[in-house]
Amino acid sequence: MKARSSNPALSLDNSVHQVAIRIRWELREELRRGVPFAYLTNFSDFYENRFFVNEAVLIPRPETEFLVDLILRPGKKYSSIYDLGTGSGVILLSLLAKLPHACGTGADISPEALEVAKINSHRLRLSDRCNFSQTDRFEGIAEKKFDLIVSNPPYIKRDAHRSGVHTMVHEHEPALALYLSDDIYEAWFTQLFTGAFKALVPGGVFFMEGHESEVAQQVPLLKAAGFSDPVVLPDLLGRDRFLRAHRMI
Ligand code: GLN
Repeated sequence: MKARSSNPALSLDNSVHQVAIRIRWELREELRRGVPFAYLTNFSDFYENRFFVNEAVLIPRPETEFLVDLILRPGKKYSSIYDLGTGSGVILLSLLAKLPHACGTGADISPEALEVAKINSHRLRLSDRCNFSQTDRFEGIAEKKFDLIVSNPPYIKRDAHRSGVHTMVHEHEPALALYLSDDIYEAWFTQLFTGAFKALVPGGVFFMEGHESEVAQQVPLLKAAGFSDPVVLPDLLGRDRFLRAHRMI
């Protein structure tokens, strides 16, 4: 057995060292198990800001940054924004940070996700220009209220698209934010588009991130909901990933 150090400072040093080794070992094990790095560090950089994240929310993706850029690119000014499925709040808060006169609502079905979004709104000093609502799509939302509605909803079909989802994503990120049952998929989006149309003011615009193999088929659903000129927009790799549509009247 090792003799105990007679110097208390040395033995404290030694135990701090042991704890550091243990933490490093545990982190390495978590990474080996496939826990995403952002859940271990509790932050993720998105667009121009750093966001707090935990297991209640998706880790923000670069294609969603591209969506924010698409929305801001024409230099259009929005004053009232609704972000459906806000998660950590990255879309809403990135837009508010760039649009100093805008206000917004972040909606999510998950109360745990809304807590994360609220933390981020305070950290970015944007909490005075936004509120958060626990709701499913547009339930309880006033008509003709917003001039921009944006959404990154769960758009992966639980069965049909499952093979395209990375194990790390499937095992660690919240299923609620990722998947919809195949059999309700179309009806779920029909309800989303109808709700979005009603909640927009005439002249308002709707943007959505969607699944590569689904967005083209969602264009007629947007038309049926009342939108005038729905279009599919590609991401940086040229994949069909976004929808944009206007409410004219
Ligand atoms: N883009 C995410 C992924 O591929 C899915 C996000 C979503 O369903 N909204 O893992």
